Amino acid sequence: MITNRKIIHFDIDAFFASVEQLDHPEFKGKPLIVGGDSDRSVVSTCSYEARVYGVKSAMSIVVAKKLCPHGIYVYGNMKRYSDISHQIFEWIESQFEMVQRVSIDEAYIDVSDFPSPWEVAREIKKQILSMTGLTVSVGISYNKFLAKLASDWNKPDGIFEIKTSDIPNILLPLPIIKIHGLGKKTCEKLNRIGIFTIEDLYQYPSELLNNIIGESWAKEIVERIHGIDHRPVKEYAQRKSYGKETTLEEDTEDREQIYNILKIYLNKIHKRLEEKGLMAKTLTIKIKYGDFEQFTKSHSLEYHTNDIGILTDTLQSMYDSLSLTKNVRLVGLTFSNFEDIDYKQFNLLELTSSN
Ligand SMILES: [Mg+2]
Repeated sequence: MITNRKIIHFDIDAFFASVEQLDHPEFKGKPLIVGGDSDRSVVSTCSYEARVYGVKSAMSIVVAKKLCPHGIYVYGNMKRYSDISHQIFEWIESQFEMVQRVSIDEAYIDVSDFPSPWEVAREIKKQILSMTGLTVSVGISYNKFLAKLASDWNKPDGIFEIKTSDIPNILLPLPIIKIHGLGKKTCEKLNRIGIFTIEDLYQYPSELLNNIIGESWAKEIVERIHGIDHRPVKEYAQRKSYGKETTLEEDTEDREQIYNILKIYLNKIHKRLEEKGLMAKTLTIKIKYGDFEQFTKSHSLEYHTNDIGILTDTLQSMYDSLSLTKNVRLVGLTFSNFEDIDYKQFNLLELTSSN
């Protein structure tokens, strides 16, 4: 069993509902249901105050209204949620190499190379709270299945770690609906034959489980409930940008110091592009001043490139034309507008042969 990995799963608490409560302080502390007001709508997210009444995601609004008639029902603002999500992931991806987004508000991060996953978890919570005002729950474990279970364990605003030694105590009494990967329908089926907890499932003959959910899936589920899950943290396909940013230990107006940081980022991101077989066309410098005013400056080259000399020259000339009027608090650099090296070489080949 591979147990030397360290995986984090983070999940924003009641994301859409929390954003509404931030934007509308009058909704704070009240049962709030995001999903609409028409009889055809379903609950998208609801606040913890609404969950007390039994309201849940994916429930029809009609049912929710029966359970919680005095709740506040809103349609929600997808644009606003996706802007906040974008802001959060921009920061996350600038700090960590191995990030797998799972949805608008949750992701896995492989933090095996960091000295303390707890430190990382605390930093993620602190940063997201200060950037957005939202709380996050973080799970830590040695695989994705357990990390997700851990983030769910201590919601909201928690950190929880599941270690190998915790497996029997934590897993055995859990209801099977907590097994990520087992749907509601399957769980109902299993309930009907007397399987309610993971412990019940442990004792159930695997051939019978094969009949219910299919052999390969059954094998995977049985492994997971024994704490085995080798799935890697995978970056989602076609990432649109790679960036790095950092808040300086102290605000500074030292141009050289700032440039040196940008150059370190350039080299790191370049290395990453090489690993991925990508070339970039656009560079963006991000500067935030001590008073939190911020701006970005982008430059697009005429060609996609992964030539470190060209990229360094571009950064240098962008930086030379940048005027910094106040002390700088945060520096960032992002590459975007990618193309595969293979594809580019194919293009070049075509160009050469037609000349
Ligand atoms: Mg969430």
